[in-house]
Amino acid sequence: MAAKPHVLVAGGGFAGLETAFGLRLLLGDRVRISLVADREEFLFKPNTIYLPFGGAGDRLHIPLPGPLFRRHIAFHQGTVAGADPDALGIELTDGTRLRGDFLVLATGAAMLPQEVPGLVEHAETVWTPGQMRALGRKFQDLREDALAGRHRQVLFLVPPGNKCAGPLYEIALMLDTWLRRANARSPVHLTWTTYESGYVQAFGPQLHRVVEQEFAARDIDGHTSAVVEKVGDDEVRYTDGRIRPFDLLVAFPPYVSAVDFPALPHDDRGFLHTHPGTRQVTGHPQVYAPGDAGDFPVKQAFLAFLQAHAVAEHICTVIEPELLGRPRPFEPISMCVMDMLDKATFAQVPLEATGDPAVPVRVAPDAGDRYRVGTSPAWRLGKKALGLYLPVRFRAGRPFHSGRPWQAMELALNGMARTLADSPE
Ligand SMILES: Cc1cc2nc3c(=O)[nH]c(=O)nc-3n(C[C@H](O)[C@H](O)[C@H](O)COP(=O)(O)OP(=O)(O)OC[C@H]3O[C@@H](n4cnc5c(N)ncnc54)[C@H](O)[C@@H]3O)c2cc1C
Repeated sequence: MAAKPHVLVAGGGFAGLETAFGLRLLLGDRVRISLVADREEFLFKPNTIYLPFGGAGDRLHIPLPGPLFRRHIAFHQGTVAGADPDALGIELTDGTRLRGDFLVLATGAAMLPQEVPGLVEHAETVWTPGQMRALGRKFQDLREDALAGRHRQVLFLVPPGNKCAGPLYEIALMLDTWLRRANARSPVHLTWTTYESGYVQAFGPQLHRVVEQEFAARDIDGHTSAVVEKVGDDEVRYTDGRIRPFDLLVAFPPYVSAVDFPALPHDDRGFLHTHPGTRQVTGHPQVYAPGDAGDFPVKQAFLAFLQAHAVAEHICTVIEPELLGRPRPFEPISMCVMDMLDKATFAQVPLEATGDPAVPVRVAPDAGDRYRVGTSPAWRLGKKALGLYLPVRFRAGRPFHSGRPWQAMELALNGMARTLADSPE
């Protein structure tokens, strides 16, 4: 009897786990699955935004060995150094070589703060839990200064090359609420600057309007098309000649691929060129790149899940053509909830990649009423529910985005979206 086909997954994040658990659910024991990751734990990045405000610390990590063992997925802890697409192999930094019949490269993204002169030396950046905790200590000092009546300038900065600015918007809006609750808001001047031509540009005019209104209501001085040139020790210089001073600078740096795969086609930031629907790497039909590692212009966990789902179904169809019929392609409909601590904004956004480097993604022209944005305190519960549901699924070795529990969750989210959405102008 022929050996079972072997799927080798690199990365234990949203895309890697969703692909591995999804494949096991679809194919049962008809496939051998292995997963390589440099860390033994899954990190639930979206909830790290609460760390600067003293929350979420103990619920961010899910140990990988248990859930993988439960689903008979071999786990190999190691750091991926590169891939050999012709041999369908992965090389680790310790020299180990692993082979599969299919490769899933889901090693995600990394930050490149060095791209902006002065950013490393003078800014607090948001990416790792450690950086979030360090930012929390700065926020504590800020609150103490404000309570002592000392005026402080906090400047937020999104430079070009950042692919997911939403979390920094959340931190700015949450900081406003957090300071107000401590009666420490008035001595603090909050300024927001982004290279984007609209707030959360990728998610279109409705989300821009919501953020604009929130900034006005919260006295946050917001600026779009503000492209950083360099950062000094107490001021940021922009390409239009403007200079903005700060006591505390908080930035979300430019993105690059976490791992370089020079033997595979990639863009100037190392993100792998993929087929839009299947996430197969261009010219390499047995190599896939779901999630942040691939070239979809918006880097988001929800989109990583959808891509992983498309990958699992595609591989399933190659291995067992009769099982599913036609695999569902990746359809980029983003869902996100932006927390402000006192309320939250929900956005469901059908997206379209444009191929234009200046505006790489836009709201799909045929989105119609599937493009929904709304703000309500109730959306905070939606975010909490998603944050509770995901660990339950991953701890059980089940994909997030499938089965009855997800259908119920999706129904509830869609119901909330219909009733709580703002009417588009
Ligand atoms: C602060 C913050 C808040 C966010 N909030 C949201 C949100 O609210 N909603 C949302 O949808 N998205 C959010 N995102 C984006 C989301 O977290 C990412 O899009 C998502 O993590 C991408 O999933 P991924 O599996 O592609 O990559 P990752 O989750 O980054 O996983 C990559 C995996 O690869 C492993 N890895 C990396 N390099 C190597 C290597 N060399 N060798 C072996 N393994 C390696 C990593 O350890 C990890 O297991 C947020 C991101 C941040 C930083």
